[in-house]
Amino acid sequence: MAEEKKSRIVPKKYPMPEQNPEERVKNFDEVPIGQDAETIILEAKRCLQCKESPKRKLCKEGCPVEIDIPAFIKQVQEGDFAEAMRIIRKKQNLPAVCGRVCPYENQCEGNCVVGKKNEPVGIGRIERFLADWERNEQKHGKVEPPTSTGKKVAVVGGGPAGLTVAGDLAKLGHKVTVFEALQYSGGVLVYGIPEFRLPKAIVKAEVDYIKKSGVEIKNDYVIGKVETVDDLLEKYDAVFVGTGAGLPNWTNLEGENLNGILSANEFLTRVNLMKAFNFPDYDTPIRVGKRVVTLGGGNVAMDCARTALRLGAEESIILYRRSDVELPARREEIHHAKEEGVRFELLAAPVRYIGDEDGNVKQIEAVRMKLGEPDASGRRRPIKIEGSNFILDCQTVLVAIGQSPNPLVPMTTPSLKTTKWGTIAVDAEGRTSKKGVFAGGDISTGAATVILAMGDGKRAAKTMHKYLMEDPSWPDAEVFEKAAC
Ligand code: FAD
Ligand code: SF4
Ligand code: SF4
Repeated sequence: MAEEKKSRIVPKKYPMPEQNPEERVKNFDEVPIGQDAETIILEAKRCLQCKESPKRKLCKEGCPVEIDIPAFIKQVQEGDFAEAMRIIRKKQNLPAVCGRVCPYENQCEGNCVVGKKNEPVGIGRIERFLADWERNEQKHGKVEPPTSTGKKVAVVGGGPAGLTVAGDLAKLGHKVTVFEALQYSGGVLVYGIPEFRLPKAIVKAEVDYIKKSGVEIKNDYVIGKVETVDDLLEKYDAVFVGTGAGLPNWTNLEGENLNGILSANEFLTRVNLMKAFNFPDYDTPIRVGKRVVTLGGGNVAMDCARTALRLGAEESIILYRRSDVELPARREEIHHAKEEGVRFELLAAPVRYIGDEDGNVKQIEAVRMKLGEPDASGRRRPIKIEGSNFILDCQTVLVAIGQSPNPLVPMTTPSLKTTKWGTIAVDAEGRTSKKGVFAGGDISTGAATVILAMGDGKRAAKTMHKYLMEDPSWPDAEVFEKAAC
């Protein structure tokens, strides 16, 4: 029967309509347009409803927030979108976000049995459809207020990790207050990922839903400046730190302080959070030259290069020191960038920046690379080819070579142990070296992904609930000495 079912599988995902590349580089509207209900039901019918077996991993085990994927897909097969959403919401606080930016190809879809011989079931796009359907049709189920536990929790940082902790603990009856440094909540979802990948109205709707469950959010509230974690501990029964990795890494090469060289963070924040793409309606200036060079090969670099084109750059170039196969960005983002005309200068690394007499960048000197043996990351190590230096003219350089943990909370909380990378040291349950303080997401893992930050948040919320309700014991200091190594 299962074999018969498998032989009837439509081999490819039902196509996702998209804005065509020539049009979309002129606007900031979302690139994938979305699918209709009929197509989504057909996509769901590609699922075999596999039975769990110790012999193989299934979709479900690839989801860090443990959504019961076969169960919600079954409801979609039967056309019951409301029930499908109810199943998703049991575990997931940001479904419309994850349906868009989750690296599902390496998570749930990476384990899909259909994907062994065909394209996997489009789990991400089904989740996206359902979340959009719920929002557009106003089908949010009523959020019943739980019985109050009388406990108060402070969450520092309103990104995916903090929002997940807040949503989960509020559902359990705790009084949760989120302290967020910026004027909007969502973390990288609002200030980093561009509108054409993740519309900000969608992030706002997800945050509003979390607020409906009773979570209070205090924006423009920087912990470490207005108050410290120690101050919070005097008023709250527990604190979660989810302050992310928003500190840009620099190349530290000669000339890096020339005008026209920006960190990816500054560039994307100006465009997304401060709406520079709507200048002069929004009072945020942004200058991109005719030729923009972005350093790096991850999602952040793709976002910069594609944003530069939309802001009017005639040429947008990615300079990356390894080859195409090692590009860390999601394949979908690389594909979209190529379609839009981003040029990839691969196996090349910057050497120095060259400025004009007014202190503006006018060129980058770079060197060709070849790949050697794999390094600690498992990827082949790039090696300079001596004498292969070349010059690229450019007016703007965007440095997208990674982010480090935000240092303010560790700096202002002396007893919080950190690792040599500046991340907060945690045990497997998200506890830090300071009793009552938990941490998760990019601040403890280093820059990672939305769904891993949410998975961390879920785990920490479970431990926090246990700590608040039954077991206030805390691990010995040596656990964190080890975690800090
Ligand atoms: P963040 O999202 O960084 O949120 C931390 C929050 O804490 C922020 O709102 C910050 O303002 C706040 N904060 C910091 N310090 C303080 C303080 N002292 N007091 C109060 N608040 C504070 N991941 C994917 O899965 N898919 C993608 O396609 C993807 N694309 C990306 C594109 C870009 C441009 C970037 C930068 C990252 C991308 N990522 C992507 C990574 C992903 O966004 C992060 O891993 C994720 O957002 C981490 O969540 P977090 O909650 O730990 O931190
Ligand atoms: Fe897959 Fe991400 Fe949705 Fe989990 S949250 S089911 S990993 S798309
Ligand atoms: Fe369906 Fe794929 Fe999950 Fe099997 S592994 S239940 S086919 S989504």
